[in-house]
Amino acid sequence: MTYKVSSDNYMFSFSKELEPVLRVKSGDVVEIETMDCFANQIKTNEDKMESLDWNRINPATGPVYVEGTEAGDALKVTIEKIEIGDKGVVATGKGLGVLGHLMEGLYSRVLDIKDGQVIFNEDISFPTNTMIGVIGVAPKEGSINCGTPGSHGGNMDTKLIREGSVLYLPVFVEGALFGLGDLHASMGDGEIGVSGVEVCGSVTVKLEVVKNIGIANPIVKTNDITATIASAITLDEAVTIATQDMANLIKLHSSMAMEEIATLMSAVGNLEISQVVDPEKTARFAMPNEILERLNIQL
Ligand code: CA
Ligand code: ZN
Repeated sequence: MTYKVSSDNYMFSFSKELEPVLRVKSGDVVEIETMDCFANQIKTNEDKMESLDWNRINPATGPVYVEGTEAGDALKVTIEKIEIGDKGVVATGKGLGVLGHLMEGLYSRVLDIKDGQVIFNEDISFPTNTMIGVIGVAPKEGSINCGTPGSHGGNMDTKLIREGSVLYLPVFVEGALFGLGDLHASMGDGEIGVSGVEVCGSVTVKLEVVKNIGIANPIVKTNDITATIASAITLDEAVTIATQDMANLIKLHSSMAMEEIATLMSAVGNLEISQVVDPEKTARFAMPNEILERLNIQL
């Protein structure tokens, strides 16, 4: 069954207190329409960052209740299709991002997106590299603003979360309460300026319940690699958790000693930065699928 959810069904946090906007069964497909991370407030170069309503930042669309899902399960999200609008917004400024100390005031620009290219300026265009910034489920307790990443997913700003990828999210509450938003026409690792090319759009996902998988943090699988994703207050902590999660995943499925696992990961795995600009930083550890398949690790 295929469902559709409009971006009128927005939320600014992931929480078990929110009323689901849709109930689906495991295996159903949902097309989810999303606003951009500024809730579409910046439409032209005349719309300034200074006049933004900061209470309407990082909306996600949802939550979607997936029947038969309970705490301890994982939600398998297959990203079947991402469509984006024809305008994108880039933004940065004083105090924002890694270069925030080198700038004065706030800055934003609206870019055209045409024929799969982002038109950055008169001289520079580059191919779109469309991805999802915010995607997650409700946390165990309380509510987590959509701008903050964590074990529940959220604002992970991980460019591997794109069309064709499969994301596994740990489930903390009955029904999972899934949502997504914050699409980027393009974003580099780090998101150093504090934005990608922010766009509205729609994402078609297949939602499935996976029992007895026992994951503590999100895992993304592309055609080539599988990456454990972790977020923490410091990048150092995020790096440790992501690396440990991969080591534990391998340990669970093989008889290798930690020394062997560590040397294998050190030889063929990549520790990568997703983003360093959100309230918690996000890192990931990527292993080639070919190697994981040799170990009979089938996610
Ligand atoms: Ca984001
Ligand atoms: Zn964004």
